[in-house]
Amino acid sequence: MISKHCEWCDHSFQTKISYQIYCSAECREAATKEKIMHNYFLKQVKKRFEKKRTCKSCGSLLSAYNDSQTCFMCVSNPTDVSKALKEMKGLMNEDK
Ligand SMILES: [Zn+2]
Ligand SMILES: [Zn+2]
Repeated sequence: MISKHCEWCDHSFQTKISYQIYCSAECREAATKEKIMHNYFLKQVKKRFEKKRTCKSCGSLLSAYNDSQTCFMCVSNPTDVSKALKEMKGLMNEDK
């Protein structure tokens, strides 16, 4: 018997099979599932890098990790920004 550590749950287990890396079928399945999910995610990211997406609002290139259709700069409402700017100007004028 060989004493090993499960690569998924890190529990120690005994096995006769030298290439066994998981303590149970459940751990093996969970690890396989995660690997598939990870590969799927990588594929999605790669796809996004290949197909360049641009912000719907300003047209700048979107990050491959950005799920929305607008860039982070445009996420905040532009009307809110201009309103805030007007208020700032108003305050500056009051000082004079
Ligand atoms: Zn395990
Ligand atoms: Zn934008």
